[in-house]
Amino acid sequence: MTHEQQVKDSTSGRTGRLGYLGRAALEAAEAGLSVFPLHPGSKYPALHGQRDCDGKGVCAEGHLGWEQRATRDPCQITEWWNERPWNLGIATGPSGLVVIDLDDGRGKTAPEPWAGARNGREVLAQLAQAAGQPGPWATHQVSTPSGGQHLYFRAPEGDELRSSAGTLGWKIDVRAHGGFIVAAPSRREVGTYRAVNRASIAALPVWLAEALTPAERGPVTGPLPTVRPRGRAEAFLAAIVRGETAALAAAEPGTRHRARLKAARKLGQLVGGGALDGAEARAHLLSAAEAHIGVENTTRAEVERDLDDGLAYGAQMPREIDGARDRVAR
Ligand SMILES: [Zn+2]
Repeated sequence: MTHEQQVKDSTSGRTGRLGYLGRAALEAAEAGLSVFPLHPGSKYPALHGQRDCDGKGVCAEGHLGWEQRATRDPCQITEWWNERPWNLGIATGPSGLVVIDLDDGRGKTAPEPWAGARNGREVLAQLAQAAGQPGPWATHQVSTPSGGQHLYFRAPEGDELRSSAGTLGWKIDVRAHGGFIVAAPSRREVGTYRAVNRASIAALPVWLAEALTPAERGPVTGPLPTVRPRGRAEAFLAAIVRGETAALAAAEPGTRHRARLKAARKLGQLVGGGALDGAEARAHLLSAAEAHIGVENTTRAEVERDLDDGLAYGAQMPREIDGARDRVAR
């Protein structure tokens, strides 16, 4: 395609330069889902954060984050994806979705009462069996690069279900209000998100909706309120990073695997909220966990895997800090 043609395509709103990710974004929007850009090759939101907010344009009446800016508007989507081949984020709350995120156990087996289960899928099967509603369910399903699955369901009317981690069971997270998912056909270094069942999105089964109702759902996660006045945000952020990395460095042998996941999850939440750069967070964590390597047969690869798992996990429960630093796209 010539340059002239490209310009013509982008100004006329045609989709010539969009690429497969942009086309997938348009398709998702047409199906009623609210989309927004994630950094290419990653699972981190790419829209500007509060610190970089100039208070103009979409933010003229106050800063809007990814959950507010996620859209079905084909013009906005075309504009975003003409700019870069962003990965595709779907804001689950505004999309009216509840996505059950089933993770792989990576060789571990579940604790009681899910003994024997090797992954979130098997735990969910046990829950369904116990509820007298054995699966599988015919609904839209995506496989993730880390060996997990996303089951897409329509949120029930009424109760506002929020994102949660581990409240349904081992290796099962729920993405709803306050959360987002990386959608097919996004790519990360480790692989691609693929739609493995293109069935339309089914209603959330009643027994699952009941298991997730606010009274029973346990601790709420998702974006925390932004309470820090501008100017103190950087110091507050630095204090969190310092506290988490210090705890990680001081973790006793035997508790270090857990400590790595926990610290990385905390910083991952800040990365997801746009307050902290992903690479920077990883570097801080790695330096704090350096002393773990070579002790108790712990390898560098294992340490890095824990940190990456924790970061990725935390990023899906974003925490925003008012005034904190952020990167890129408007
Ligand atoms: Zn803004």
